[in-house]
Amino acid sequence: MKIFCVGRNYAEHAKELKNDIPEEPVIFIKPKTALVQNGVPFYYPEFTNELHYEAELVLRVSKNGRHILPKNAFRYFDAVTVGIDFTARDVQAELKKKGLPWEKAKAWDGSAIIGAWQPAEKFDFKQGVRFSMTMNGNTVQQGNSNDMLFNVPEIIANISQYFSLNIGDLIFTGTPAGVGECVVGDVFAGYLETQKVFDLTVK
Ligand code: ZN
Repeated sequence: MKIFCVGRNYAEHAKELKNDIPEEPVIFIKPKTALVQNGVPFYYPEFTNELHYEAELVLRVSKNGRHILPKNAFRYFDAVTVGIDFTARDVQAELKKKGLPWEKAKAWDGSAIIGAWQPAEKFDFKQGVRFSMTMNGNTVQQGNSNDMLFNVPEIIANISQYFSLNIGDLIFTGTPAGVGECVVGDVFAGYLETQKVFDLTVK
């Protein structure tokens, strides 16, 4: 299982981190050890002093494929949820400055959490799929798939030009504005439309 992530996929978020708007999707991968399995606590890692949350819409791949055309992309995932792409922002800043790869900042054990899966057919991506996350009861991020710089078909088409998509792979589709720091004891809740899909406490 592979975990694909899209970077800088919302203009307002690219701006808040002072990144340029990308001309094609920014893709990175987390290994499967990055995924916090159900029921396992999420621990603040010891190698960072600036842990950031990034709430994202997550897709579950349901069909193997390569070189997928945008018009066929909706056949390749069957479930949707909200997850957090946890990022050691201080580590990332250091790596970016040196032009080095991001994995130590983004792909560490436990850096990805996902909520309960919802059937994809429940959602109308043409209308826009909305999601949000609260931290300690306050809404910190709100997203709408219609605000993505590269929409779901474009993401799937782009990824599959380079990497095979396999059943069970996950795609984190990028974070909207509002990313920020969290500390031990913070409590998150993720919502897909109005449905709560996860609760998470930073341990
Ligand atoms: Zn992200």
